[in-house]
Amino acid sequence: MPLLPGLIGLGLATGMTGCVTRSPAPAKPRLAIILDDAGNENGFYDEIFKLPRPVTLAIIPHTPWAAPLLRRARQKGMDTIGHIPMQSPVTNEIFVVTTNMTASEIYENLTAAIDSLPGIRGINNHMGSLVSTDPASLAPVMAVLKAKRMFIVDSRTTRGSLILKTAQERGIPCLAKDDFLDSEGGADRMRKHLSYLLSVARKRGYAVGIGHVQNLEAILALGDFMREHAKDVEFVGISQLIQAD
Ligand SMILES: [Zn+2]
Repeated sequence: MPLLPGLIGLGLATGMTGCVTRSPAPAKPRLAIILDDAGNENGFYDEIFKLPRPVTLAIIPHTPWAAPLLRRARQKGMDTIGHIPMQSPVTNEIFVVTTNMTASEIYENLTAAIDSLPGIRGINNHMGSLVSTDPASLAPVMAVLKAKRMFIVDSRTTRGSLILKTAQERGIPCLAKDDFLDSEGGADRMRKHLSYLLSVARKRGYAVGIGHVQNLEAILALGDFMREHAKDVEFVGISQLIQAD
């Protein structure tokens, strides 16, 4: 069997070389940035639509600019979700979901809110520190999402939030925010949050950050960050991220 050693040798050599050269490049970490509170006139929408990479616009239903923003986002191929006001101890807000509504009231309110934003595939919560810790309020929320085959992103406005757990139990696609980008401070602080998100994404493959449409400094810092990391990070809409996993 004179050929055998030669074949084995050849096989090993080419096989090993092939393994090394053909191994796929590691996938880029994916970063989904959601910009909350869209729909009122106080947002820096022109700057958001000029961002060099994809973000998700989270639109509050029944706000004056909800419909035109949704149209504009669609024209530009920008991802959108519904940003649903859920009760927190703050009292000067109109909430879609409160803890003293009946299950059917919550079901109807949330259905109407979602239907006012045609084409969205998911929601996150605006405020909601009371609702997100109340299983009785979350049950009809999840029932609507189940019926509409939608996902939810837990904005995690409180540590005790049960949104993720409840959604998982009902088989509803869900992710939770890893960090708020602009809860305090200016561009420097924002960059720290973005670097933190990047470190999470490098470890886990993805990360989810939430900023706000009213914060011009943060939006501009986000644009700089996107340009800086254009090659090593894949910026994605949350709808793309959540439906891919
Ligand atoms: Zn909000």
